[in-house]
Amino acid sequence: MIFDLNNITRPSVKNLKPYSSARDEFTGKAEVYLDANENPFDTGLNRYPDPYQQKLKNKISKIKNIDARNIILGNGSDEVIDLLFRAFCEPGEDEVIIHPPTYGMYQVCADVNNVKTNKVPLTSDFELDETKLFEAINKKSKIIWFCSPNNPTGNTLDPTSIKNTLNSFNGIVVIDEAYIDFSDSQSWIDFLDFYPNLFIIQTLSKAWGLAGLRLGMGFASAEIISVLNKIKPPYNVNSLTQEKAIESLGYLDEKNETVDVILNEKNSLINDLSNIPTVEKIYPSDTNFILVKINDATNIYNKLVEQSIIVRNRSNVKLCEECLRITVGKSEENNKLIEAIKEIIK
Ligand SMILES: *Cc1c(COP(=O)(O)O)cnc(C)c1O
Repeated sequence: MIFDLNNITRPSVKNLKPYSSARDEFTGKAEVYLDANENPFDTGLNRYPDPYQQKLKNKISKIKNIDARNIILGNGSDEVIDLLFRAFCEPGEDEVIIHPPTYGMYQVCADVNNVKTNKVPLTSDFELDETKLFEAINKKSKIIWFCSPNNPTGNTLDPTSIKNTLNSFNGIVVIDEAYIDFSDSQSWIDFLDFYPNLFIIQTLSKAWGLAGLRLGMGFASAEIISVLNKIKPPYNVNSLTQEKAIESLGYLDEKNETVDVILNEKNSLINDLSNIPTVEKIYPSDTNFILVKINDATNIYNKLVEQSIIVRNRSNVKLCEECLRITVGKSEENNKLIEAIKEIIK
């Protein structure tokens, strides 16, 4: 495999002279700042945020045991996903490969950027179809998207197929690990040194309980990161988010404790669901949600809505027919759900 970042970066991005913000041109500490047309009167937020989020990256770097130069932060992972399309996929020309059923943002970002998605569906047990994947790769393929553990199916994808892809594909291989903290599997972050084409996405939205904060993280070679830094909006992570994230990341033990609580609740929920006679299948889950095949799923979904209980109806998603995706909630919330389903099917 010959991975050459120069070959896969869009020519316009390669040649682009990035916007140079006031905070790019002067970085140190000063007494008087008259360079950014900011209002001098203190509102707590009158200054622009650090465009490269150095303090926050240093914190993440310690937790993830990775150099800060290998990190890009975004306004949610969704921004990181979009940056990847904009950096590497020429609109109307290049393609990416996705593995449905999977996270919807890959398709949406592809559509927004006018990039074709080459779809290689997962097998009926939600595994990668390696043969079809390799057949789908062509000269226009720039990014292969893996989501592991996968949303909405909940399973971790076979690492051997992913390794084979990393070894043979000369575009970017993205592994979205939004749910990694709920899983026993090792993060692909540990393999960054071995694969120049590897890009990992994580987020504070799930295990860290900070979906409202909007902080997504990308991990890759310093070279890939610098391409994305070139095209990202200069102040894409605001000051409040940076501060709150630095503070919250200090509570690693508490994060791990809530993950344990959620995983325990997941086991009870699986147990309760398995006692419901119309439940056909509960798919294995390495996440904080469960995909359940249940008779008459759409009807159950609608009846639950009437009772002010909202789950995700995935019935019209290929391979997820008659399936609901249920996020693991608090004990009393899960109990309410179970009681409501039992009442509906009576
Ligand atoms: C929830 C989720 C995310 C999180 O996106 P944010 O923009 O960081 O909130 C990313 N990827 C997948 C697969 C998800 O399910």
